Amino acid sequence: MHQIHHLIDGVTAGSASGRSGPVFDPATGEQTAQVDFASVEEVDAAVASARAAFEEWGTVSIARRVKLLYGFRNLIVEHTDEIAHRLTAEHGKVADDARGEVARGIENIEFACGFADSLKGTYSEQASTGVDVYTVRQPLGVCAGITPFNFPAMVPLWMLPNAVACGNTFVLKPSERDPSAPRLIVELAQEAGFPPGVVNLVNGDKVAVDRLLGHPDVAALSFVGSTPIARYVYTTGTAQSKRVQALGGAKNHMVVLPDADLNLAADAAVSAAYGSAGERCMAISVVVAVGEIADPLVEAIKLRMEKLVIGPGNDPASEMGPLITAEHRDRVAGYVGAGADAGAEVVVDGRLQSFDGDGFFLGVSLLDRVTTDMSVYTDEIFGPVLSVVRVDGYHQAVGMIADNPYGNGTAIFTRDGGAARQFQADADAGMVGINVPIPVPVGYHSFGGWGDSLFGDTTMYGPEGLHFYTRPKVITSRWPDPSTSTVDLGFPRND
Ligand code: NAD
Repeated sequence: MHQIHHLIDGVTAGSASGRSGPVFDPATGEQTAQVDFASVEEVDAAVASARAAFEEWGTVSIARRVKLLYGFRNLIVEHTDEIAHRLTAEHGKVADDARGEVARGIENIEFACGFADSLKGTYSEQASTGVDVYTVRQPLGVCAGITPFNFPAMVPLWMLPNAVACGNTFVLKPSERDPSAPRLIVELAQEAGFPPGVVNLVNGDKVAVDRLLGHPDVAALSFVGSTPIARYVYTTGTAQSKRVQALGGAKNHMVVLPDADLNLAADAAVSAAYGSAGERCMAISVVVAVGEIADPLVEAIKLRMEKLVIGPGNDPASEMGPLITAEHRDRVAGYVGAGADAGAEVVVDGRLQSFDGDGFFLGVSLLDRVTTDMSVYTDEIFGPVLSVVRVDGYHQAVGMIADNPYGNGTAIFTRDGGAARQFQADADAGMVGINVPIPVPVGYHSFGGWGDSLFGDTTMYGPEGLHFYTRPKVITSRWPDPSTSTVDLGFPRND
């Protein structure tokens, strides 16, 4: 069985912990690899390597850091197909989604390549007579990244490029479910020429996360995952005086006003709800149908669902792949039954679709007349189940979004510019789409939600990412009266 190891101090290290976990191909249900789970001592070795590397890396010139980042970016571009292949093999997403994920990750490296401009600092000349005040931003030290299974390449690239661009060193702890793509990314960072210890990889589970949270030499942690773990990572890390940004789960609403373009809205709902098997933190989970559009919208979504091709991610015909594990698939299917028992109308029941083989496949489901007290509405399902909630007016839709504890993304579909602008102001979420169902910001803006979707006050990547990975230092300097200078500057001399 293929074993996936850590990469510490530039060296692939077999684990001595005696602990490991299985990695599956979700399309076949077969175990394809075994991944090492780090011990406390192995995490300590990674942090020690990062701490030692920081002594020099923190002082490396901007020019050198930019050059290495460009090299890293080029290697990721060259290896896009290989990374995408690993994503499909362990996560299950279809090839187009996998390549798209790598492309979004590359955007973040490209943004980080321009970090010098963003971190120029500020200068106030003659704040008082002969006194100048200026601010520089300096790196924090060792930063750790803990990432989820659903974007095993992109989410590490939300963190790693910005962290090292700013002069920090980095320890990545990716999801144990699909560790091969992040492993290749860290190998490519070595190949690009980042000195040993600048980028380290430890695989593992809670033991590794807890040691990173408790290690005195870890200055900052970036986390992306489910809300309960995000809350735990934030409260535990900040209690130990670490800087923490922890992005959590989501329940994203798509509001469709009666004047919306029906075909555009239905296409968007289907791709945003069922793409990547609904395992996206920006997936649309609830369609809020306002007024008379509800009936034709449900019908239009249903028609499109019937044409959706579900199959292995490496089959070019597939539009949706399997779920990540059999347990998760069964949990998601359970919500369809719970919704029906609670009184929702099951328009399409994904549990009825059968698949050959032992892959973790589930058909797509659509539930209509869902109400906000049903578990299918309150819980993050993270699978191919879309709920439709019918409301009479705009204010009910906006109120529902505000009352939901999550606040990651939301979207509105309308032809009315005034309504869209009002929604942009009213929406209680960190990322808003206008006729765009999944408004993931480009790499030069920043990504993050509100409420239970973000713990901490700095969002991920873009300008806020650079802010997170640096701390300000303000220098106040007084200069002597130019007339007392030892060089004759042409001023009348005082002495
Ligand atoms: P998860 O919370 O189970 O795992 C995330 C990371 O935390 C993994 O590295 C895992 O090893 C670690 N972890 C798991 N249990 C832990 C514990 N008890 N103690 C310490 N560490 C632990 O999340 P997941 O299932 O891998 O990913 C899916 C979740 O991530 C969904 O809730 C999704 O919405 C969320 N997500 C959010 C965003 C965002 O930007 N807000 C992006 C992607 C995914």
